[in-house]
Amino acid sequence: MNITYFNGAFLPKDEVKISPDDRGFLFADGIYEVVRWYEGFFYDIGSHLERMKRSLRELHINWNDSDQFPSIALDLIKKNGLDTQPAMVYIQITRGASKRSHNFPPDNIPLTVYAYAWGFKPDIVSQETGIKVMLKEDIRWSRCDIKSIALLANTLSFQEAFEKGLRECIFVRNGLITEGSHSNIFFVIDETLYTHPESSHILSGISRKNILRIAREAGIKTIEEAIDENMLKFTREAFIANTSAEATPVTEIGGITIGDGTPGTVTKLIIERFHAELGLLKG
Ligand code: PLP
Repeated sequence: MNITYFNGAFLPKDEVKISPDDRGFLFADGIYEVVRWYEGFFYDIGSHLERMKRSLRELHINWNDSDQFPSIALDLIKKNGLDTQPAMVYIQITRGASKRSHNFPPDNIPLTVYAYAWGFKPDIVSQETGIKVMLKEDIRWSRCDIKSIALLANTLSFQEAFEKGLRECIFVRNGLITEGSHSNIFFVIDETLYTHPESSHILSGISRKNILRIAREAGIKTIEEAIDENMLKFTREAFIANTSAEATPVTEIGGITIGDGTPGTVTKLIIERFHAELGLLKG
């Protein structure tokens, strides 16, 4: 069964028809959001909803029904029989279909809203043993804070990592580490947890926000400050964070071994606390 949401209706994926004039297709003129279903609840869907609304605002896309996102997501889980398994929901909103022109279409042109859900297998092995990642100049635009569907720089960079057998591409802008192609990144130096501050050079991850909170609650000192790539050799621990990977240890960055090359104690503590919180939410 593959029931999707399309412009107000639930219908099989092969019945969805999107115009070739859609501005998402022509200009990547849209935004997206991804939430994770933990066999009974969405993790912090309130923050995902707020970020989705912010992305829409930044693109001047006015989706009047944006508050329906949590109920659309839940309906997709139920209609696809995913209630009792880990799953993800993706939603994308574009400025709709209109004759190709750089200026926006009139306000009465309907948006294109598409969402779908899929069953998901968490990568427990990587979370236990860690991953190796590459480093590369940040070739993206200067509004990485918007969860835009224009992800070509991200996909090209991730593909480069993939072809090298690496699991993520971490970006460096003016010598400072920003984030990954689809994750935020954290470092532990002198028992302190560092991550890039919120800015237009990173996506403000929902996992990032919750990990910072969890770390503070655990009494770990946190500093939202970018790490110079020259600091990597002094870094004791590193991990990436996103909705699907939660926190996943990084044992090597751009050929530099992090710490002793195994997941560090602060990283493991944060993963443990994250999972404990999920356990409480599950009830
Ligand atoms: N940074 C980028 C560029 C991303 O694409 C993502 C998620 O896909 C993240 C960070 C992490 O965001 P979240 O924790 O909300 O999944």
